[in-house]
Amino acid sequence: DDQLHLQITVTRYGNGEHLMLARDVTHLHLLELMRKDFVANVSHELRTPLTVIAGYLETLLEHADEINPRWLKPLQRMEQQAERMRHLLEDLLLLTKLETTSYPASNQPVKIEQMLHSIKSDALSLSAEKQHRITLEADPKLLLKGSESELRSAFSNLVFNAVKYTPAEGEIHIRWWSNEQGAHLCVQDNGIGIENGHLPRLTERFYRVDSSRASNTGGTGLGLAIVKHVLLRHRGKLEIQSLPGKGSQFICHFLPTQVAIASEDRPTERL
Ligand code: ADP
Repeated sequence: DDQLHLQITVTRYGNGEHLMLARDVTHLHLLELMRKDFVANVSHELRTPLTVIAGYLETLLEHADEINPRWLKPLQRMEQQAERMRHLLEDLLLLTKLETTSYPASNQPVKIEQMLHSIKSDALSLSAEKQHRITLEADPKLLLKGSESELRSAFSNLVFNAVKYTPAEGEIHIRWWSNEQGAHLCVQDNGIGIENGHLPRLTERFYRVDSSRASNTGGTGLGLAIVKHVLLRHRGKLEIQSLPGKGSQFICHFLPTQVAIASEDRPTERL
């Protein structure tokens, strides 16, 4: 902790001379550590009171027939908001956990095709009333080294976003494949799309294209920040392509070194 943090910039001039500037950014680094600590502590401390509130609300709603009908709607709204807050705290805790170490919790080959099948069925039940057509094309032998739970958080965030930001009867296509460049996961939708100007900031915490619209979808604004961090830890990169009114494509690229191939004699079980 007594380390000095320096930011070094090198400028090369036309005459071949170099100028090197070193700036002491130790104070920024310490501030960043304090921020992470603070967020982790607050999220943790808020969890217990929230669990108590949600517990009482659940008990009250279990006895709905004894409740004055006037209070039923407000109580249901309170329960929904408590659930939303629980999601937010979970996402914040996950994000701080991801930020504190730079490597995944495990480096075992993960069966991505199986995982995508289960994410797809969760997405179908989430989008039941919107009647989306969700298709999946995945190589069952293509495994990815890393942490199963982190990868599941990242990929399900991308698929659930496609569901959230695609109107009824839209199409969502999930593809998992490999080539010489490595392995790739693409989640494509024909939903509302995103203006170009927003793309560079999309993976920032709490960044939303349209905050009024986003609050209706029940998102936390942390999903893509989680995706970015999970990918960084798995030496992956996120590519986003989008056209407003036409749809979006979120592609995760992984290096060949992260890829493992399942052997023929032990086929991956399908769900
Ligand atoms: P949120 O919880 O708001 O969905 P995210 O970090 O997951 O937060 O996404 C950030 C913002 O990016 C969203 O609020 C939304 O405006 C935009 N976005 C993400 N995915 C899509 C998509 N598939 N189509 C259109 N917009 C999207």
